[in-house]
Amino acid sequence: MMSIGPYSFEEYLSVVKSFHGYTAPGLAAGGVMVDLALNRMPGGVLFEAISETRNCLPDAVQLLTPCTIGNGRLKIINLGRFALSLYDKHSGEGVRVFVDAQKVRAWPEVEAWLFKLKEKREQDGQLLLEQIRQAGPELYRIDTVLVKPQLLGKRRSCIGCCNLCGEPYPIDDGAICRACAGKTPYLSR
Ligand code: ZN
Repeated sequence: MMSIGPYSFEEYLSVVKSFHGYTAPGLAAGGVMVDLALNRMPGGVLFEAISETRNCLPDAVQLLTPCTIGNGRLKIINLGRFALSLYDKHSGEGVRVFVDAQKVRAWPEVEAWLFKLKEKREQDGQLLLEQIRQAGPELYRIDTVLVKPQLLGKRRSCIGCCNLCGEPYPIDDGAICRACAGKTPYLSR
């Protein structure tokens, strides 16, 4: 009987549905991956997380660990790989869980999803979730990692007010805030 964190696989899927909006296969796979990583972390360690993709995996980390984007303990470093790591916040020692590209070949619906071999509407969502459940941990590999020291600990910057918009911002960013420096997502009106 497969479990994901404190949940059965089915319970986990319903938690996913209420948090993420639907039972995304990436969150089903991500749950298995986070569970694997958690089981490898020594007890009592204050850990943080890195997701190597923006897709799905960050939500699996947020559902199953105390690490969130908002509390700063989950970083998204978008390398485009479906992989995550949990690591000791102080030493940087941890584990990285990633997809075993060879083992995935034995599970056609998972392969088609991961390698985008089918249009989304051609996917069999139920079969895909079932294959992710049945395959369990065997689709993934685990390595130990050591996170670069510059990524450990919190970077603190003094806060000032932007000379253009007047809003508070970290003065390490320069004389004006990043929005006023051209990074704003909004059109001016
Ligand atoms: Zn500004």
